[in-house]
Amino acid sequence: MADLQPVRGTRDLIGEDQRRHHHVIETARRIAASYGFDEWSTPVFEDTRVFSRTLGETSDVVMKEMYTFEDRGGDSVTLRPEGTAGVCRALVTNGLTQSLPQKVFYAGPMFRYERPQKGRYRQFHQIGLELIGPAEPLADAEVIACGRDILTALGVAQDTVLEINTLGDRDSHAAYRDALIGYFTEHQAGLSEDSLARLDRNPMRILDSKDEGDRRIVADAPTIYEHLTEDAAAFYARLKEHLTRFGVPFVENPRIVRGLDYYGHTAFEFVTSRLGAQGTVLAGGRYDRLVAEMGGPAVPAVGWAAGIERLSMLLDAPPPAPAGVAVIPVGEAVEGPALDLLQALRRAGIRAEMAYRGNLKRRLERANRIGARAAVILGEDDLARGVAQVKDLATGTQDAVPLAEIAARLR
Ligand code: ATP
Ligand code: MG
Repeated sequence: MADLQPVRGTRDLIGEDQRRHHHVIETARRIAASYGFDEWSTPVFEDTRVFSRTLGETSDVVMKEMYTFEDRGGDSVTLRPEGTAGVCRALVTNGLTQSLPQKVFYAGPMFRYERPQKGRYRQFHQIGLELIGPAEPLADAEVIACGRDILTALGVAQDTVLEINTLGDRDSHAAYRDALIGYFTEHQAGLSEDSLARLDRNPMRILDSKDEGDRRIVADAPTIYEHLTEDAAAFYARLKEHLTRFGVPFVENPRIVRGLDYYGHTAFEFVTSRLGAQGTVLAGGRYDRLVAEMGGPAVPAVGWAAGIERLSMLLDAPPPAPAGVAVIPVGEAVEGPALDLLQALRRAGIRAEMAYRGNLKRRLERANRIGARAAVILGEDDLARGVAQVKDLATGTQDAVPLAEIAARLR
């Protein structure tokens, strides 16, 4: 068994890693609740079509990153690469398209077959929001403001910049697509192989290319702003007004496109320079066609997802290890009463552990090692007097406290 290793691109969350992870989720959950979002949990795997139909046949996720397999019954299932498609599937199959809006928060593991590196894993975790129902730009501004508040509460907002863009409506998109195909065709000699493949199918994705040569060509590509319909331009203008009203600072970046194909209008990313190439910590946009593609009615929606691993890495100080209390019986005769005391402390909400084994000195050492803030030492003489010695392990001071008062003293 010694040669068993974790699967490439997966990580164990233990100790500080787990505390960081948990802190991100708890913080996001609390702030999302204050905006009126309810938590949903959808299955970690779905019918493959939930993703293949909706994420766009040409997206990287569907083409090369999905964990898809046939189960023992011969059905094709896929480990979810993202959360939005599953939430929309659940909206439709639970008959909730008639009770809108739905405001959904989720947190959980996602799976993508990617090349593992810092901030990029094969099992990673996301928190996310979906605001399903409202078609107006205020909804976009609200989910962005909530994201920003979560980053602020985590203490990382000052390390990020919010970049926003519009992908326009269908007509803007079609006009822009033509303009891009024209421009990139003129420059196709300098494009990477990946981008050439995208030229006909999805030229907007070239804007997102990380290839150096592509980037030089992209720098002078036309932007969508010249191709927006009046409606799309008005939508985008309102979004910016609302963001300003919410006090959320942003910059415009015409190169932002989303990696998945179901987006229109708003696209945004919170990016940081502190994580090297994996700089996007939170990303999202408006997706007004997805619910219909899932077999439901046309329901507009907007949302985002954020990588928990990347947020965890940005946290300055890890949440502290919980400091409990060690109960140390001295002598076999007091073990029973020590157990009673231990349970009484736990029921009073105090983290309390039995200090197993060894003499008093060894047990005190052990109490220090597990980060206990206090030791409760119970000897036969103490017990006869109805007290125990409470030792503050930070200062070393010790006094005799009546058994009935120990919980109150330690709380
Ligand atoms: P990237 O450009 O980094 O590949 P993406 O566009 O594929 O990101 P989204 O699908 O928008 O990412 O997912 C939202 C967020 O989830 C990302 O901004 C990132 O923080 C996180 N994320 C995505 N893929 C991974 C991964 N493989 N490992 C860790 N975090 C990830
Ligand atoms: Mg990706």
